[in-house]
Amino acid sequence: MTLTVTVHRGTRQIGGSVIEIAHPDGKRLLLDAGQALDIDEGAEDQLPPTLDLTRPAEVLLTHAHLDHWGLVHKLPANWRVHCGKATAKLIKAAPFAGAGLPHEFQTWGASGKPVNIGAFCVTPYLTDHSAFDAHMLQIDAAGRRVFYTGDFRRHGRKSTLVDKLMANPPRDVDLLITEGTNLGTDKPTVRESELEADLVARAGQVQGRIFVAWSGQNIDRTVTLYRAAKRTGRDLIIDLYTADILDQIAEGTKLPRPGFPNLKVVITRALRNHYALLRGEGFIERMLPHAIAADKLQDSRGIIMLRQGLVKDYSAKGVVPTVQDLFLWSMWDGYLAKGDKAYDWCKAAGTQMDKLHTSGHAATADLMAFAAAIAPKAIVPVHGQNWHAPPDGFGPILNATDGTPIRLP
Ligand SMILES: [Zn+2]
Ligand SMILES: [Zn+2]
Repeated sequence: MTLTVTVHRGTRQIGGSVIEIAHPDGKRLLLDAGQALDIDEGAEDQLPPTLDLTRPAEVLLTHAHLDHWGLVHKLPANWRVHCGKATAKLIKAAPFAGAGLPHEFQTWGASGKPVNIGAFCVTPYLTDHSAFDAHMLQIDAAGRRVFYTGDFRRHGRKSTLVDKLMANPPRDVDLLITEGTNLGTDKPTVRESELEADLVARAGQVQGRIFVAWSGQNIDRTVTLYRAAKRTGRDLIIDLYTADILDQIAEGTKLPRPGFPNLKVVITRALRNHYALLRGEGFIERMLPHAIAADKLQDSRGIIMLRQGLVKDYSAKGVVPTVQDLFLWSMWDGYLAKGDKAYDWCKAAGTQMDKLHTSGHAATADLMAFAAAIAPKAIVPVHGQNWHAPPDGFGPILNATDGTPIRLP
């Protein structure tokens, strides 16, 4: 009697991962419950059809990206959710569904410390990814060992976590479930520290402001921008959404947050109303000493957060991009391809347009090196579009398909 692993979704696509591990006694774990990137958010049948909702399961979430947790609200309310402490906070702070989830959340302790969840022993390992508090998961049960990478990279600000794990890997892994986002692509995988140096060099040549479109949940990027701001004597100006995220997770860390030098929070109308309701007026009042009014942005020389949702409130306060400013797209290109109001707003004004980004996922060489370090008996590929043609020497990759159970030997 042994474990059965079923990738309900993910063997052929990036995002929307839903993976089940079943114990011979019937107990089940669900690794991630992600929203598929190509699915209409309002669609009814977003859960993979092969996932049985009639039997109980415990849910483990590797990190707070929607393509890993965005379907938790579709799972039975009595299924318990396990994740890292900051991940739980980020999910509850998310504008979409997070705050209203009825599920009980249990957060695990220190990285590398095993926790027993029913018949399973789960060891979470903090890892390097564009989501803060992302974890890899080792699962021991029924005499077998499964290791799931979640999403990871080896060129972010926490790359040493991956290096350390590779130097001292778990032994006797029966099955490695690995992501492969960047297989067969040439997405940039420069280090975050190189982005910082790049921005510092460029900032000296920009007379005006530097508008940056990035995700407030990408804490590594916020740190990169903040460090560059300090080094160039500019202020990093974040919106209330980003301020709220930092406010919630930064305590006990070295992360920048409202109250740090060279960091200001722009109070815009729509977000002010939203957060006054969500967090109470007390939150807004705590932000005020570190705030800059939107109408002061026109004369600032800051590194300023700019997202589509901010354009309306910025323009209403007389903020106009100019030819002296620089606009930096600091997210995945795929979002830009769908059209972006902030990008269009700056481009129409003749602002210099450029990119400042690195992938949240491991380069192909790092995926291979990681798999080699783990040296599993078999590999189940997920979270990639090019697994049909893996590079030579990747390892013992199984030909898995969505919804087909794999019985571990
Ligand atoms: Zn993902
Ligand atoms: Zn992710």
